[in-house]
Amino acid sequence: MNKDSFLKILNKLYPNPKCELNYGSAYELLVAVILSAQCTDKRVNIVTETLFKKYNTPQKMLLLKQEQLEEIIHSCGFYHNKAKNILSMSKDLIEKYNGKVPDNIQDLQTLAGVGRKTANVVYSEAFKGDAIAVDTHVLRVSNRLGFVKTADPYKCEIQLMNMFDNKDWGKLHLQMVHFGRYICKAQKPNCKECPFANECYFNNKTNI
Ligand code: SF4
Repeated sequence: MNKDSFLKILNKLYPNPKCELNYGSAYELLVAVILSAQCTDKRVNIVTETLFKKYNTPQKMLLLKQEQLEEIIHSCGFYHNKAKNILSMSKDLIEKYNGKVPDNIQDLQTLAGVGRKTANVVYSEAFKGDAIAVDTHVLRVSNRLGFVKTADPYKCEIQLMNMFDNKDWGKLHLQMVHFGRYICKAQKPNCKECPFANECYFNNKTNI
């Protein structure tokens, strides 16, 4: 797949892609991204609408006991670990960063429960930094279209960064997430409607 045609078509499909998580600050985004692991953005938005009314700063979040937070976020799944991570991350923010979400990937990754993908999402979305967050959608689409041949998100990220201009990274991430979520789905991808069908290794191989 030619990367320039790929970008051109994505820009037509998704000229103004937006993050589907609702948030009003970098801290809220960080919490929402932690909650979104193995959960839909729609469900996270329902939960955070309630959660952020009272607990939208690290200081306020730490007023909650783990069991109380678990109860609020229960429907997002993996609530025990997610609650533990949100509270530890909030504590880290206060102790190491004066209560502020750091504006760089390296420091973001020092926070409890924050891996590279989450750090990239927050850096790109909240701070408008150049980053490609490789989630399950970006990894799948990149492999199916032959941009990479790896199951390792970090290797995929490095290869995509080498391939595309840094000015395109943030938008490209959002566009690939939308494309992966609604067209190139994990199960039953919609190949008949896909503008890349002729050049897709996955489609040609399986003849879907
Ligand atoms: S042809 Fe099918 S598998 Fe290939 S990119 Fe399009 S939707 Fe995905």
